[in-house]
Amino acid sequence: MTDASEYQRLRSHLAFLAMTAAAEALPGELDHAAAAKLTHSAFLERLLAVEVDAVDERRRASLTRFASLPSPFTLADFDFSAQPSVDEKLIADLATLRFVEDATNVLLIGPPGVGKTMLAVGLGHAAVAAGMRVYYTTAADLAARCHRAALEGRWATTMRFFANPRLLIVDEVGYLPLPAEAAAALFQVVSQRYLKGSIALTTNLGIASWGKVFNDDPMVAGAMLDRLLHRSVVLNIEGDSYRMRSHRARAEATRRAVAGS
Ligand code: ADP
Ligand code: MG
Repeated sequence: MTDASEYQRLRSHLAFLAMTAAAEALPGELDHAAAAKLTHSAFLERLLAVEVDAVDERRRASLTRFASLPSPFTLADFDFSAQPSVDEKLIADLATLRFVEDATNVLLIGPPGVGKTMLAVGLGHAAVAAGMRVYYTTAADLAARCHRAALEGRWATTMRFFANPRLLIVDEVGYLPLPAEAAAALFQVVSQRYLKGSIALTTNLGIASWGKVFNDDPMVAGAMLDRLLHRSVVLNIEGDSYRMRSHRARAEATRRAVAGS
C-alpha cells in the first residue's frame, strides 16, 4: 500500500468517526511528527488532543447556550467588600460545586438589588465550566411555561425538562404571587428534584412569609419549604441595593465636587 492511499484511508477513518478537528489537523501533525521525530504514541496523543479540545469546546458552548444565564458575570466579579452580609468563604465553598454532588439547594434571600441573581448566575457559570447541565429560569417564566404545557398536553415532558439539569436556577420567587396552577407546578418541580438535583432559588421574601407566594395555601408553601430546606444552604443577604449604592456614591461624589468648587 502506498503512503498516499494509507493517508486517504486514515482521512476516511477520521471522517467516518466524525473526528473533523483531527482530520483537519492530520497533515500538519504528520509533518510535525516527521520533523520532530515523534514516537507513534506522542503523535497519536497530539492528534487526539486536538479532537478532545474541539469536542470539549463544543460541549461547553452547547451547555452555555442551554443554561440561558442572563448575564456573563461570574463569582469572581462579585465585590464582597460591598456586601459584608455575604460570607466569602461560604461562596468559595459553594464554588467547589460539592453542593451539586449531593443535591443541596441554595436559597438566596434578600431585598432587591443586593446581588442574589448575580450570585445564583455566578454559581451557574461555575457549574457550566465544570461541564454540568444548568438551566436558568425565573419563577414567572417557569409558571408561564408550565401553563402552556398544561394547555398543550405537554405537562409530563415539561416536568422532565425541569427535572433534568444538574443545577436548576429559579430566580425571583415571590415578586409576583403565583396563581394556584403555577404554585402546583413549582411544587412539583421542587418535589421531583428533591434529593436528586440542586435548585438555586432567589427570593425577596423571608421564609416566614412564603405563604404569600402560594396565596392562601400554607400547606403547599410548608411542604415545599420542607423539601427545599431539608438539605440546603441559606444565604440571607441584607443591606443596600448595589445599584442604589453606586448611584448614591456617584451622587455623593457629584455633590462634594459641586460643594468644593
Ligand atoms: P438582586 O437579584 O438581589 O435583585 P442583582 O444580582 O440583580 O440583585 O444585582 C443588581 C445589580 O448590582 C446587578 O447589576 C449586579 O451585577 C450588581 N451587583 C449586586 N451586588 C454586587 C456585588 N456585591 N458586586 C458587584 N456587583 C453587584
Ligand atoms: Mg434578581
